[in-house]
Amino acid sequence: MIIILLGPPGAGKGTQAQRIETKQGLVQLSTGDMLRAAVAAGTEVGKKAKAFMEAGKLVTDEIVIGIIADRIDEDDCKNGFLLDGFPRTVAQAEALDNMLARKDLKLDVVIEMKVDDAALVDRITGRYTCANCNQGYHDVNLKPKVDGVCDNCGSTNFKRRADDNRETVSSRLEAYHAQTAPLLPYYKAKGILKVVDGMADIDDVTAQINEVLGSLS
Ligand code: ADP
Ligand code: ADP
Ligand code: ZN
Repeated sequence: MIIILLGPPGAGKGTQAQRIETKQGLVQLSTGDMLRAAVAAGTEVGKKAKAFMEAGKLVTDEIVIGIIADRIDEDDCKNGFLLDGFPRTVAQAEALDNMLARKDLKLDVVIEMKVDDAALVDRITGRYTCANCNQGYHDVNLKPKVDGVCDNCGSTNFKRRADDNRETVSSRLEAYHAQTAPLLPYYKAKGILKVVDGMADIDDVTAQINEVLGSLS
């Protein structure tokens, strides 16, 4: 199965992707995570991407298309994958269509997570993750069961993203509306777009997504 999670920054894509990955055994491919790893490692890609990410702008299509093309060639993607944060422009969506066609694969579903802009600022400024296993948390909405200890791996180290601040959020939202939202009619026209209410509780959103996935098989 090949699934795309589409939605604005802070919509809950990463949170739900982690859950789908566990339940469906699909690899989660997050271009944001891949780019942050490249920046941290100081690779050529990381050097090119850093300034765009810090400014809340999209990295060039060429860079992210290259990353995804290489990644889906790997063995663990043979049985399908879940894309979180890619594609984000029509050019990226067209490049993905071409990559899949060449491999004789097809996109099963695009799930739009609909969330009001007003809710996104709180979600993004309250977001943090486990520094060891990348499990996502939120200051108010999703705390670890034991204060300061990761539920998943027991680590006591957590991190926040450099771009998760109020100033950058507005450019990221602008980029979403201008460059990514046009993907909604693009996938709707292909008849594979499903919409879930991302304003609901985290567990409720998971249930809505499971229902969508269940209706496909
Ligand atoms: P995205 O990957 O779309 O940018 P995340 O999954 O990282 O978004 O979620 C952003 C923040 O909001 C995280 O701190 C997460 O814990 C929290 N969050 C995710 N889904 C919900 C929800 N349905 N309701 C409230 N908070 C949520
Ligand atoms: P969020 O879901 O909170 O917006 P991501 O982790 O998906 O965050 O992305 C963080 C940043 O990485 C983006 O603001 C952008 O600079 C870059 N990025 C991630 N994926 C893409 C993509 N598909 N195309 C262009 N830039 C991307
Ligand atoms: Zn952890």
